[in-house]
Amino acid sequence: MTIKAVLFDMWGTLIHADIEHPGEILQRILASRGISRSLDEIKTEWLNAEKKAKDTSLLSLFGKLPPEEYWYKWNSLILKHLGIAANAEFVKTVNSKWNNTVGFALYPETKEVLLELRRRGLKLGLISTAYTEEIHFFLERTGLKKTGFDIIVGVDAAQCMKPHPAIFKYALRKLKVRPEEAMFVGDNVEADYKGAKNVGMYALLINRTERHRQSGLRTIKNLKEILSQID
Ligand SMILES: [Mg+2]
Repeated sequence: MTIKAVLFDMWGTLIHADIEHPGEILQRILASRGISRSLDEIKTEWLNAEKKAKDTSLLSLFGKLPPEEYWYKWNSLILKHLGIAANAEFVKTVNSKWNNTVGFALYPETKEVLLELRRRGLKLGLISTAYTEEIHFFLERTGLKKTGFDIIVGVDAAQCMKPHPAIFKYALRKLKVRPEEAMFVGDNVEADYKGAKNVGMYALLINRTERHRQSGLRTIKNLKEILSQID
């Protein structure tokens, strides 16, 4: 097998976040404004808001609207579901605090593995379910930007989300590699593993906490294991 490029998911694969659910970010922002809501309530309303966003086609605009516009609509919707009266200024405050309210750090081996892949002459890519400018925000702050990805694909670049084949094909086209020459590493079975495998890439599931118990999947527990799978 000749692998020429290794592509990664970001959250849970290269970067660890101190949250299990994005609603925790909202909970923290609301708390900073003196508004208390339980995580259970936020999670329930998050699901309801997502359903509404699907029904009203807001969800299909993720990646198509400019990020500030999309997040303004989404945050207005979730706040409304939580019964919080929010004027435009309040919604904008939630938007602007979002990325600075999540705690994050690289996994211990992330940097050395990326640098080693680079040293071996492989191309590097990143595909994340976020806007490209948000991906850059976190790469900048974790120092990962310097490892030099050849391609960074956000939802706005390919106008769709993993596991849609188009987002993987978009990245492969930009990298000028065939699917069978590319490895994809991610922590989500449906979006990452099956999505990449579906377009013919060599998929690896990173299962750090062994939360995935599905058998028959090519799994690693640490990014270092990638190195032994590539000549
Ligand atoms: Mg992930």
